[in-house]
Amino acid sequence: MILTVTMNPSVDMMYAMDKLELDTVNRVSDVLKSAGGKGLNVTRVAHQLGSKVVATGLVGGTVGAYIEKDLNQSGINHRFSQIASESRNCLALIHEGHQTEVLEKGPTISKEEATSFLELYRDLLKQANVVTISGSLPQGLPVDFYVLLVSEAEEAGKRVLLDSSGQSLEAVLKSQSKPYMIKPNTEELEALMGVSIQTDDELKVILRDSLFEGIPLIVVSMGADGAFVKYNEIFYRVKIPKITVVNPVGSGDSTVAGMAVAISEGKDILECLKLAMTAGMLNTMEAKTGFVNPDKVDEYLDKIEVIEI
Ligand code: ADP
Repeated sequence: MILTVTMNPSVDMMYAMDKLELDTVNRVSDVLKSAGGKGLNVTRVAHQLGSKVVATGLVGGTVGAYIEKDLNQSGINHRFSQIASESRNCLALIHEGHQTEVLEKGPTISKEEATSFLELYRDLLKQANVVTISGSLPQGLPVDFYVLLVSEAEEAGKRVLLDSSGQSLEAVLKSQSKPYMIKPNTEELEALMGVSIQTDDELKVILRDSLFEGIPLIVVSMGADGAFVKYNEIFYRVKIPKITVVNPVGSGDSTVAGMAVAISEGKDILECLKLAMTAGMLNTMEAKTGFVNPDKVDEYLDKIEVIEI
């Protein structure tokens, strides 16, 4: 099964409003509420693609209970470690063609809570063949917490797909613990390396940097432009067809989900890349974030071109 890790999950609320008025009361009738956080998007999409998934991470309080209830209603297995403080709410206001987001930082995790989670994680690892680790770390956990998760999983012989950015990603890249895959988008890669990247040749040079040594698969996702990939010493450009986009939020998470599903089914690299891109594309075609229509998978798989360059 696929084990998905979400250390700072949320209840995501989307308010669709004609207009956002400042300094007065705004009333909203169009409300969408769901379990969120990058890792839970991965979870939902992997489940929709037909894989056996277990979601883990930290939840607390009534918001945490809502997250678990939401997953139950979708028939998704989960085993979270409970914390004393409330999990967070995140708010997206859709108004006048804008999306204004208000994101709570979330709870602060104690040492004891981190230790309890690690015990649970070790136990869950036994049943997993692929592990996805997504998103930011909550306050209180050390910046190298993912280093620990990656090394435990690698030692247990599991493939780890890591989708994080900033300091937590940097800590893993600078450590001895190497995930099987990382999936920065172009902006995240540029921020990490402190450069602006224009051409495929520049990308090749960047991905050969010693920072990425030992990571077999690097998928640089590029929105409508598909992806640029380094797989061991081979580079691929993945081209995708033009589609009508409804909501692109969560596409990167869906890409990770597609990759996790394909890897857990023992697919070869070309098939893995095709399912990863298809999942990302299908997510953009749905209004809900981290959501795909599995009936459309076959139609789009064949339209994706993977070219060695
Ligand atoms: P992130 O959400 O991490 O920024 P991307 O925006 O690169 O990730 O999207 C991940 C994948 O989802 C892309 O590689 C592509 O397959 C698909 N995707 C995202 N945006 C679009 C789009 N506008 N048109 C078609 N496919 C898209």
